[in-house]
Amino acid sequence: MKAADFAYARATSVDDAVALLAAHGGRAKLLSGGQSLLPAMNLRLISPELVIDIGGIAELRGIAVKGDTVRIGALARHVDLQRSPEIAAHAPLLKEAVTHVAHPAIRNRGTIGGSLAHADPASELPACMLALDASLVVRSKTGERRIAAGDFFQGIFQTALSAEELLVAIELPMPPKNSAHFFHEFARRNGDYAIAGLAAQAKIDGGTFTHLRLAYFAVGDRPVLAGAAKVLVGKVITVALLSEASEALGDELDPEDDQQASGGMRRHLAKVLLMRCVATLLGRPELAGGAA
Ligand SMILES: Cc1cc2nc3c(=O)[nH]c(=O)nc-3n(C[C@H](O)[C@H](O)[C@H](O)COP(=O)(O)OP(=O)(O)OC[C@H]3O[C@@H](n4cnc5c(N)ncnc54)[C@H](O)[C@@H]3O)c2cc1C
Repeated sequence: MKAADFAYARATSVDDAVALLAAHGGRAKLLSGGQSLLPAMNLRLISPELVIDIGGIAELRGIAVKGDTVRIGALARHVDLQRSPEIAAHAPLLKEAVTHVAHPAIRNRGTIGGSLAHADPASELPACMLALDASLVVRSKTGERRIAAGDFFQGIFQTALSAEELLVAIELPMPPKNSAHFFHEFARRNGDYAIAGLAAQAKIDGGTFTHLRLAYFAVGDRPVLAGAAKVLVGKVITVALLSEASEALGDELDPEDDQQASGGMRRHLAKVLLMRCVATLLGRPELAGGAA
């Protein structure tokens, strides 16, 4: 199948893009790398009247450290995240996670902005934004605002962006000393969307978590920042405590069945990920097998 007829405009700047959005609003769609938009148009799941191509806007590119923030332009491609020394140094979680996004051909074109705006609940990068406590910088004709990652993702393919807003950048706070991360996903094949996944960012002092953000994906209608992490912060981790956290996690997740897995299987996998995450981050392999 091919896309329905549409008009095409190539935006020359952010101002130009937001002016086009203001004029055409809900009848238009932005085009970044096209790796989600074009398949959806070809399948006629969506039929925008106008496609606004933002792929040539230089000010949306680039990854840079500014003060205590890493700023990632919305047009940074997945492959740019993989290769960036700034990401490797200050957001290694993202570097690791992005290798699980699709395949090289898609990572060469797909962008972080497109992935976040698309808001697939099985996507890796939205969960990383939660784990890293990112702010998303968005622009419209009326100005700029920042949206915390926790408020940005609102449901399956639903975000806090209005039809007139463009995501321009992502800001990540610099990680404190003694930071560590964990990333793992269960998928049928390498490059497939996850059946269940976990992106975690922690600070560890003297064998204890002083900060722990557990962001799950593919277990709900949006990425989930698990409240169960609180059980594990500031305490010596025992199998019994991990069991308590696992139970709390099971209570707060409500994954749905689909053709890939049942909700019960996803909940089980989320608990397995919790064990592996804690065992890996603390360097205590004996915790990996307990309490799931
Ligand atoms: C075979 C295949 C496998 C895939 N596997 C995975 C996977 O495992 N994990 C994963 O996460 N993704 C996967 N994807 C999806 C894909 O990697 C991302 O969703 C994609 O890279 C999105 O980025 P893009 O630049 O291509 O966005 P586009 O397709 O250009 O846009 C996606 C959506 O975001 C909007 N948009 C784009 N940029 C902006 C912006 N700056 N501001 C506001 N709105 C914007 C568009 O209007 C559109 O609605 C897969 C895709 C394919 C085709």
